[in-house]
Amino acid sequence: MKLYEFQGKALFRKFGINTPQGGIFKKDAARPWSGSCVLKAQVLSGGRGKAGAIMLCDSEAEYGKALKRLFDMTLQGEPVTAVLAEERVDILHEYYFAVTFDGEAGAPLLIACASGGVDIEKVADEHPELILRLPFDSIAGPQDYHFLQAAKFVNTSRVRELSAMLSGLYTVYRETWATLVEVNPLVENAEGFTALDAKVELDDDAEPLNKKLFETLRREQADINPGLEEAKRDTITYVPLDGDIGLISDGAGTGMLTLDLLNDRGGKAANFCEMGGITSPDVIYSAMERVMTGPGSKIRSLLIVLIGGFNRMDEMAEGIVRFASDHDLLSKIPLIVRLCGTMEEEGKKIMEDAGLPFYDDLEEAADAAVKGKQGEICPSL
Ligand code: GDP
Ligand code: MN
Repeated sequence: MKLYEFQGKALFRKFGINTPQGGIFKKDAARPWSGSCVLKAQVLSGGRGKAGAIMLCDSEAEYGKALKRLFDMTLQGEPVTAVLAEERVDILHEYYFAVTFDGEAGAPLLIACASGGVDIEKVADEHPELILRLPFDSIAGPQDYHFLQAAKFVNTSRVRELSAMLSGLYTVYRETWATLVEVNPLVENAEGFTALDAKVELDDDAEPLNKKLFETLRREQADINPGLEEAKRDTITYVPLDGDIGLISDGAGTGMLTLDLLNDRGGKAANFCEMGGITSPDVIYSAMERVMTGPGSKIRSLLIVLIGGFNRMDEMAEGIVRFASDHDLLSKIPLIVRLCGTMEEEGKKIMEDAGLPFYDDLEEAADAAVKGKQGEICPSL
């Protein structure tokens, strides 16, 4: 579960980590001007600074304008429905710190970087030597020397004070069953250290161990964005790629295998899209919608690869047929559907009745998708 910044900061304060004073408010709530402040859009996606969703206000007029602009924004598909208003904090240094789990190493780790406040992925790409990664034992937890080493790494003169704060971040990580506790930037000024931002993600599987906290956080999230629960039920994973074959699979493994099969044949997928779990006609419909209309998508053929386990092929065929007829898909691009498994015969019958072709063999389907690529680029739907 991803937390909003204001929720992460509330957890920080609970564990003694200094954050700016502030309060959260929704669109329709009155919030009179009370002096210089920072207004921060509360959305789950990052990069708000760059998107203009963090605004410093020094006058009542600026404040009014900023509020209006923020509440009119949609950031990566998320409408801004709540804003965090905080006191202004002077910035002397901006650091990056995180506690998270390194799946590859199979160990939790502490991450430190002296240049915070910027895109950390960019630093990691261009100057990996500027980032300290300190793995620690998951049972013993990090020791004082880990915190001290991380604090020294960013060249502060107040190493003990900072390492105490890092120890607090680890406590948040441990006590809330987090998978990520990230502070970017953690700011140093004359007064000391402040967590200016908070990105916390909790392990959903740990919910039974922390029921009350999850309940509170869920309630807060539903209050801010009632659409969120709905969006979460949508299990589609969509990753844009730069090829021209639209790809949908009903599982990640099948999707990866199909990517390889396309590559082997000199084809390139326009995206990776898998529907996950048990899916309905509506889910495959929206997966098709996403692939066909995805940002910058230039698709020459659409390949759908289904292996019915929990998934029912009759339901998948129903969604495919509905989408194809709503958008007159066949007149635009080759549609290649491979289906097998649960309710296969019923699914094929539905496809047949609608005049849609289908394949049994995955390799044949991959061949057809790559050949289909010779055609025209699909006009957007
Ligand atoms: P993100 O872009 O979504 O990660 O949002 P952040 O909360 O990290 O804010 C982005 C940037 O806004 C920070 O790196 C700061 O440079 C700036 N900022 C945020 N709050 C303050 C503040 O209180 N004072 C000052 N001077 N800058 C701030
Ligand atoms: Mn940030």
